Amino acid sequence: MQNTTKTIDCHCHIQDEKYKNNFCKFAEELKQKCLFVIVSGANKKWNREAIELSKKYPKLIYSTIGIHPIDATKMTENDFEDELKFIQNNKKNIVGIGEIGLDYHWEKDKKIQELQKRRFEQLLCLAIKIKKPVVIHSWDAEEDAINILKKYNLKNTIKHCFSGKRVEMQKAISLGYYISFSTNVLFSKQLRKLAKNCPIENMLIETDAPYMDPNHTGKNMPWNTYLSIKKIAEFKKLSPEFLLNKIIENAKKIFF
Ligand SMILES: [Zn+2]
Repeated sequence: MQNTTKTIDCHCHIQDEKYKNNFCKFAEELKQKCLFVIVSGANKKWNREAIELSKKYPKLIYSTIGIHPIDATKMTENDFEDELKFIQNNKKNIVGIGEIGLDYHWEKDKKIQELQKRRFEQLLCLAIKIKKPVVIHSWDAEEDAINILKKYNLKNTIKHCFSGKRVEMQKAISLGYYISFSTNVLFSKQLRKLAKNCPIENMLIETDAPYMDPNHTGKNMPWNTYLSIKKIAEFKKLSPEFLLNKIIENAKKIFF
C-alpha cells in the first residue's frame, strides 16, 4: 500500500477474540492504514463490543448492530424483543442495523426458516423506525431476501459479502442496493467477474474479518480491502485511487 493511501472497511468483526490480544497496537496500525472501519455486531455479545469499540475510537471505528439470522432463531421471543429495544436505545451510537437477514445454507429446517423471515422483518421495521441503513446477510436465500426487502423499500440497503449469482446482483442493483465485496474477490474468479460487472456507484468494500483472509491465516485485517481495490481496479481499468475514492464517497453517503 502506498504511504498516503488510507482504505476503508465497511464490514468487519474486529471485536472478535482474535484481535483482543494487544488491541492498542492493532488500533494504531488501523489508524495508519484505514480512514475508518465499520465493525458489525451479529449477536448480543458482539453488539455490545461493537458499540464499545466505536465509543473508544471515535471517527475511526463506527458500528452497526443487529442479529444474524442463525442467532436470531436461537433466541426466545423475550430475548429477541429485548435486543430490538437495545438496538433502538443505541440508535445514536450506531450507523446502521446489521448484520441481519436470512441463512438457508446453515438452516435447512423450513419451520425455522419461517422464523428467520419473521425476525428479519421485525429488524427491517426497526430500521425504518430509527431511519438506519441495513446490512444484509443472505446465504442461499437470495430470492426470499429480495422479496422481503422489496416490501420495505429501504433506501440504504447493503448486500454484505455478496456471493450470489449475477442475475441476483443485477436485481439488487436495479432496486438501488449496494453490493459489498469482501476480500474473497482475491480468491474467487466468479466474484471478480461480479465485481467487474458491478457499477461503482453501487459498490462497497469490506473484509468480513476475521473471515475471508486472503492469506488464509484465519485472521483477516481491515486494511486488506486495499488488495481487493487494486484487483477490482485492474479489472475495471481504473486507478485504485479513483475506485477507492468513489467507494469512500458511497460509504459516507450511506452511513454518515
Ligand atoms: Zn459479517
